[in-house]
Amino acid sequence: TDLPASVAPVFETVTARNPHEPEFHQAVHEVLHSIAPVLDRHPEFTGAGIVPRLVEPERQIMFRVPWVDDAGRVQVDRGYRIQFSSVLGPYKGGLRFHPSVNLSIIKFLGFEQIFKNALTGQGIGGAKGGSDFDPHGKSDAEVMRFCQSFVSELYRHLGEHTDVPAGDIGVGVREIGYLFGQYRKITNRHESGTFTGKGVQWGGAEVRTEATGYGVVFFAEEMLSARGTSLEGLRVGVSGSGNVAIYAIAKAHELGALPVTASDSSGYVVDDDGIDVALLRQIKEVERARIAEYAARRPSARFVEGGRPWEVAVDVAIPAATQNELDEADARALIGNGVRAVAEGANMPSTPAAVAAFQASDVLFGPGKAANAGGVAASAFEMSQNASRQRWSFDESERKLRAIIADIHASARDAAERYDRPGDYVAGANIAGFERVAHAMLAQGV
Ligand code: GLU
Repeated sequence: TDLPASVAPVFETVTARNPHEPEFHQAVHEVLHSIAPVLDRHPEFTGAGIVPRLVEPERQIMFRVPWVDDAGRVQVDRGYRIQFSSVLGPYKGGLRFHPSVNLSIIKFLGFEQIFKNALTGQGIGGAKGGSDFDPHGKSDAEVMRFCQSFVSELYRHLGEHTDVPAGDIGVGVREIGYLFGQYRKITNRHESGTFTGKGVQWGGAEVRTEATGYGVVFFAEEMLSARGTSLEGLRVGVSGSGNVAIYAIAKAHELGALPVTASDSSGYVVDDDGIDVALLRQIKEVERARIAEYAARRPSARFVEGGRPWEVAVDVAIPAATQNELDEADARALIGNGVRAVAEGANMPSTPAAVAAFQASDVLFGPGKAANAGGVAASAFEMSQNASRQRWSFDESERKLRAIIADIHASARDAAERYDRPGDYVAGANIAGFERVAHAMLAQGV
């Protein structure tokens, strides 16, 4: 590999010990590359084995999830919870329900979550979980039975001071409701703080739903303002049409930008009048229909089947669908069309070659673990409110979210400067997150 000698052996151990886990290797490689200079300045980290310890999850849980479908047939899916690091707080991270889920994907997400959560400064450890269960096309009753079975096994590993799951792809407020409900019944405790992303009427927090998408746009605004400009009047290209994309589009409108695209696995829509958030929500959240339906009902929009939105000329790109959705060719298309900033709404949506292309062209690039940390930051707000039995208003919560994103941006920028990588938010976010985790690991012993 092209890694410095201080971290190359750890990477070799990771690949040898975890074969066939390309996404996990990709995430580890990027972090090791960024933090090698930190190890040079901190021999005590190497002495305490910080990095070899950090790349091995504290605990990995894989389990059978049997459930009965509406036709009375028994179905079996696989459940995962990777409890990666608890050095800064209880394990914290979402659950993803999607047919592509496997051990590699959950481990990459859990590994990223350690640094993201550290960056929020909220005292939360890193974890991720999920299942290869596909909620698409399932009835509410099937989703409920699946969620109940999932928690019937996982509940013993959860708790407000132990491990606090939330949503991710395929897991929204409906699924969190069924998961939390089963947890409450099994434990006979209304332990609200064990799940975040709950409905605001039953222990959820204001702004949690909007937080990831809002935060990504705030992060883009921070990067632009550090260069003396703003989002005002800029065209924004968004991929995805889930929770992150919807609220990124909504906030882009509010800040005076023009979000023009949205997508799903069938293709994308482009709308030069600006994406209509209410219509998008109706189609994706209420009807759970395909994105083509948006163009069918909106004269200013057209649907491009099978395509990716990166061929549309925009000033700011927000990939908010899934990992490795934006490759080098997509990056070159965006650069050719004059893109100025990229803020990642999804986790690791840009391939390493795409990231390199953006950085070589001086495009502002905000990596997911910094740019999309608003979601988990608002989850920490939810934990706080659950523990103290308080309720914060929408405005107060959004102000706190805004402040955390500004703080993450500043920490990443500062770390990049301290390590002679000015403007490199990838290095900066990895270094700033790693420093917090490494100091805590050192203090708490092997
Ligand atoms: N799944 C989200 C993420 O990738 C949120 C996790 C959480 O709120 O715990 O950060």
